[in-house]
Amino acid sequence: MRRPFIAGNWKMNLTQAECGALAAGVAAGVGDLADCDVAICPPFVYLETVLGAIGSSSVKVGGQNLYPEPSGAFTGEISAPMLSDLGVTYVILGHSERRHILGETDAQVFSKVQAALASGLSPIVCVGETLEQREAGQTGEVVSTQFHGSLAELSEQDFAQVTIAYEPVWAIGTGKVATPEQAEEVHCNLRSVIESRYNTTIAAAVRIQYGGSVKPDNVAELMAQENIDGALVGGASLSPESFLGIVHGAVGQ
Ligand code: PEP
Repeated sequence: MRRPFIAGNWKMNLTQAECGALAAGVAAGVGDLADCDVAICPPFVYLETVLGAIGSSSVKVGGQNLYPEPSGAFTGEISAPMLSDLGVTYVILGHSERRHILGETDAQVFSKVQAALASGLSPIVCVGETLEQREAGQTGEVVSTQFHGSLAELSEQDFAQVTIAYEPVWAIGTGKVATPEQAEEVHCNLRSVIESRYNTTIAAAVRIQYGGSVKPDNVAELMAQENIDGALVGGASLSPESFLGIVHGAVGQ
């Protein structure tokens, strides 16, 4: 049985005060909810504020990226050991905004995943097709290629620490959510690809989140699908009401 996992990606939004207040609101609203993992991923500069604001809550904190080298002359970059030194648990890697705006490749994502794991961070690795690729019937191939390039060289033990987020690029921030059936088809195919590379036990255990315009009113039907284990949430993670609505909606409470 896979435990539901809802993560909020705050992207490059909010002030320090807003981050602190949002984190405190999420922590208070999650309370002692036992049947769901919850993480929030603020901008790097507000990680410490957020870690302070959640206190001893069960809510975990994630980064939105990292640089694969542990230290050195890499001006402006943040390493995995720095994130883990702060008390960060997760890190989002290979988000489509990084792949498409900043040109990040599968090979770069793979080296970041390795760096995250070496520092004890749990990566949330994003995959997903563009609208053009979907319309050309290439969704399965694109997602499989991203899995093979970004993850498939990991050992079984390392792969067990990974969460995958299927995020169709055309559904991110657009209000166009994939239908539960469209999402389930991709999740199910991806699980088969994982089974071919690893084995049935590992494929059955890996959590695959859906991301793309998830809201309190559509999360339950997505979560009702057999292979959808949670959500990576952008816009709707920026207010405690909507993010908590998703968290509670995901577990039917
Ligand atoms: C995201 O950026 O990961 C995302 C899913 O965004 P949104 O929920 O706003 O579509």
